[in-house]
Order: sequence, then structure tokens, then C-alpha cells
Amino acid sequence: MLKKIIKYSILTLLTLLFLAGLKIELIGKKIEPSSIENYILKSENKNKIRLTFLGTSGFIINYNNKQIVCDPFFSNPNIYSTIFSTAKLPKLNNLIADSLFDNVSMITISHGHYDHCMDIQNFLPNENTKIVSDKSNLLMLSSEIQKNQKVEIKHDIETDWIYDQDSTFRVLPIASVHAPHIANITFLDGIYEKALTEFPQKLWQWKMGKCNSFLVDVLQDDSVVYRFAMLGGKMTEKSEKLLIKNCKERNCNMLAHIYWNKDRNFDDIIRINQQLKPDVLLLHHWNSFFGNVNKPVQYFRTTNLPEELKNFKMNHADAKIMMPFSSVDL
Ligand SMILES: [Zn+2]
Repeated sequence: MLKKIIKYSILTLLTLLFLAGLKIELIGKKIEPSSIENYILKSENKNKIRLTFLGTSGFIINYNNKQIVCDPFFSNPNIYSTIFSTAKLPKLNNLIADSLFDNVSMITISHGHYDHCMDIQNFLPNENTKIVSDKSNLLMLSSEIQKNQKVEIKHDIETDWIYDQDSTFRVLPIASVHAPHIANITFLDGIYEKALTEFPQKLWQWKMGKCNSFLVDVLQDDSVVYRFAMLGGKMTEKSEKLLIKNCKERNCNMLAHIYWNKDRNFDDIIRINQQLKPDVLLLHHWNSFFGNVNKPVQYFRTTNLPEELKNFKMNHADAKIMMPFSSVDL
């Protein structure tokens, strides 16, 4: 018995050491800048809107010195420190200018996985910040967002537009489905029914909840200056109809679509892009977010991003990307 315990303890220790050494960096592949330079989104300077990409699905939209944040995540801890909650999370003001996130009026969260909301603390000095998400995610994050106004999205009921305090931004939730991670399995797909008393620390506490995409409008005197479709998952038939209906009434300027690799998203993006005909098609969630902050940007080894971007072009979709922590003026 004792022999067995010692044997398994040593095995576990060796596995942990192996994981620590590996830090899952093999998942990512360094980008050769020249291979993607034609696909980097350029500033147009037309609308006084500044868009900042944080990597993964994290975006900050700035307008009139106010911001809306979508999927607040940028710290990219390695999977080992995420499992054992030893990650030292970097502060955002070491990575981008304070003025890009000093007056956040609204935050949307697509779902509860850590790579979509772990860094929410950086955006909450302002109690008026409205948090929009599914009930389970609001319960999961409740220790951090106690003082904030929360808007709970009901997945099966068609929701109306949700406005920030002075109507600079409004969002329309669109129910989505999370694509499986590997072989039809979606990790951490639970739901919270009760508020967590502490901010999640361990990997398994980041339960998915329900998944939502958002139309995000930038407003001036009650008219829409710019419309983003921030799509963070697969559309259901019903939600795709809702998306198309809304973007017929007022065109969509930017379709920001999640992109993991060709097999998972290519056909959906081509189809939705054809329907919406946005001015800009931007791909997000293409970068490796495992232990990859303050290091050269990587994409996932399972894709060949430069080749796949070329492939979009051949299919009449001018897909663009932004580098993490860069901004464009739209
Ligand atoms: Zn997820």
C-alpha cells in the first residue's frame, strides 16, 4: 500500500513538473509579421471611434471619452497556473494607455470561461459600469461586481436593446452556442444557481453558463454612428435570423467573428459575411492565450493563419485581424 502511495505521488509530482516546464507553449506558433501584414486592419479615421483589441475576444470601444468592453480578458496565464491558481495577473495599464479604459460604462460577457472574463477587475473603478451577461456568469463574478448594475440576459426570450447610462452605447444580446473544444466535448459547461462568495480561482470554477453574442451600437443623439456584430459563438437558426433582420434595418459596419480554425468557423463566417455585407470583417480568438503575454504574439499550432487568411480572400471575404493591444481609429 505504502509503495503504491509513494509510486503515485512520484508520478503526480513528475507530471506537475512536466506541465510546469511545458507551460503549454507548444500550443502556439510564432507569427512571421511579413506573412500577415496585408491582413492587419488599418485606421480609417472616419467616426472618432477607437477600437482596441486585447487578444482572444477582448475589445474596448472608445467614443466621446467613454468605453464599452467586450469579454474582458488579456492576461493569458499559462494553463498550469490557471489550474493551480498561482497566476500573477498583469495590470492592463502596463500594456495600454489608461485613457483607453478609464471611463467604462458597460461590459458585455459572452460566456463564463476564464478566457472571456478573468480580467474584469481592471475595468470596474466606476460603480456606474453596467455588466451585461447570462445569470450564471453574473452569479459567478458576483464578488467583484456587487456594486455594479447588472443586466441579466434571458437566453430563451428575445431581449430588447440595453443602453448605458447616457446612451453612448447600446447592446442587443443574440443567443449563441459554444463550439465544442475537442471531439464534440465542451469543457466546463456548467451553470451557477447561487452566487459565488469569492472570485473564481481554480480552472474548474469558470463555468460556461449560457453563451451570447452581441450587436453593439455606438450612438450620437439617438442615432447609430457605428454598428458592431460581436459574434462569440455559433449562431442558432433563430439567432442568425435575428442578426440578419437587425442588420437589414441598419447595416452592420463591422462583423467581428470568433475564429479558431478553418474546420470550425470558415463556412459560418463566409455565409454570415455574405448576408451582412459589413464594411469590415475582423477575426478574433485566433491568438494563443496560453502563457503568452509580454511575449511575441502566437497563433494556434492547429491553424495556419496566413494561409487561411489568404483562403478567405479567395472566397471573396476580406478578413482582417488586429494584433493584441493595438488600436485602430474607425
Ligand atoms: Zn469558451
